[in-house]
Amino acid sequence: MSKKPGLTVLAGPTAVGKGTVSTYIRDNYPEVWLSVSATTRPPRPGEQDGVHYFFKSADEFDALVAGGELLEWAVVHGRNRYGTLRSTVDAAIADGRSVLLEIDLQGARQVKQAVPEAQFVFLAPPSWEEMVRRLVGRGTETAEEQQQRLETAKLELAAEPEFDHTVINDDVRRAADELVSLMGLTPHPH
Ligand code: 5GP
Repeated sequence: MSKKPGLTVLAGPTAVGKGTVSTYIRDNYPEVWLSVSATTRPPRPGEQDGVHYFFKSADEFDALVAGGELLEWAVVHGRNRYGTLRSTVDAAIADGRSVLLEIDLQGARQVKQAVPEAQFVFLAPPSWEEMVRRLVGRGTETAEEQQQRLETAKLELAAEPEFDHTVINDDVRRAADELVSLMGLTPHPH
């Protein structure tokens, strides 16, 4: 299946490295218009408002939802809300840009309802064992929390058939290049 990729959505299981791939694209592929999401999560050290996220209070986020200003939004990890600003994405698409959304699975499903002609790319771990290593390897959770994360990961992996393409995150640069190719752009020589 070949789609005209004005809008590409990258999603995949927790801890598969979506953030690393999108950071690589932000730093190396200025020709990709990477959507900056709104979130109620507080900024981490080094994160800039308007660059990594638009940081919002709960009330401000409520107003975005009430005003229909979000193309999709979700509570991620049961904690904070994250959402895609519809107007900026629409403007970038209208401008002929190649637009990339890096969002969670719930958000990807909402975009599929709203924009079925978009291209949906699933970022997958190289193997289940590697995924377990990444999830458990952080070493900061209890055994019970780890078990919970693995259960969630299994459910998330089962979403793969809902997507148009799968990119395996065996190497960040390679995965980013494959994603850029799927967006109809030319990967850079390294
Ligand atoms: P983090 O807090 O580590 O930056 O991101 C946590 C998760 O939120 C990631 O899995 C990321 O894909 C997801 N996320 C970031 N922005 C959005 C968004 O606009 N919508 C949705 N649904 N998920 C998002």
